[in-house]
Amino acid sequence: MYRFIISLLVSAVITTCGLPVNAVEDTFLKLRREMVQKQIRLRGIKDERVLSAIIKVERHKFVLENMQQFAYEDYPLPIGENQTISQPYIVALMTELLQLDGTEKVLEIGTGSGYQTAILCELAKEVYSIELLEPLAKRAEKLLKSLKYKNVSIRAGDGYLGWPDQFPFDAIIITCAPSRIPEPLIDQLAEGGRLVVPVGKWFQELQLLQKKNGKIITLDILPVSFVPMKGIIESK
Ligand code: SAH
Repeated sequence: MYRFIISLLVSAVITTCGLPVNAVEDTFLKLRREMVQKQIRLRGIKDERVLSAIIKVERHKFVLENMQQFAYEDYPLPIGENQTISQPYIVALMTELLQLDGTEKVLEIGTGSGYQTAILCELAKEVYSIELLEPLAKRAEKLLKSLKYKNVSIRAGDGYLGWPDQFPFDAIIITCAPSRIPEPLIDQLAEGGRLVVPVGKWFQELQLLQKKNGKIITLDILPVSFVPMKGIIESK
């Protein structure tokens, strides 16, 4: 009931002309804090840097305008082009698994709305992000620029081959699901690096891969549901 009233309040605030922008932003900030407490912290995410980044980044700016009132709910949302922005908890979990301390060079496959990209920009030194669908890549690039992120490069194209003139990467995050992990991405992971990916065709498992002494150690984290990785991978 409480959540419903808050939702109504947010839509009222969004649609009412003449209200100061600050009032809208304060309402969203309250929702973000509540989201982090109830959906993320209570489910076991502990990395304070990750939690602060999620409180800071204005998720409602990354979803479609008519979805803004649901931006802080506990589920994925459409972002256009038949793609979705992940549930906030999954974004937090994948980010925590990357173990970022601010010094890293990160590669992201599947820019989508640019929300996860913004979180990475808050937590790493440099972020390289590849999005297959050009309209999404362009929209995310424009939005991140307007939000003054300077440590990000976005490219439209197939992420299968990674970013050959920028590797090695300390962390790689794949936010679409390949049937198996693209070999070039494993090659582009630095020694000691972490790669987080939902793997599988029909059913997917979120996996954490770590490169130690040139060998890959794989850890299953939990079952998930992501949009499929398209492009080159489909012919493999
Ligand atoms: N992390 C995003 C959500 C991504 S949804 C966010 O925060 O909004 C997954 C995205 O992966 C989609 O935008 C889809 O177009 C993209 N994608 C699918 N196959 C891809 C490929 N081969 N290379 C790069 N991006 C791909």
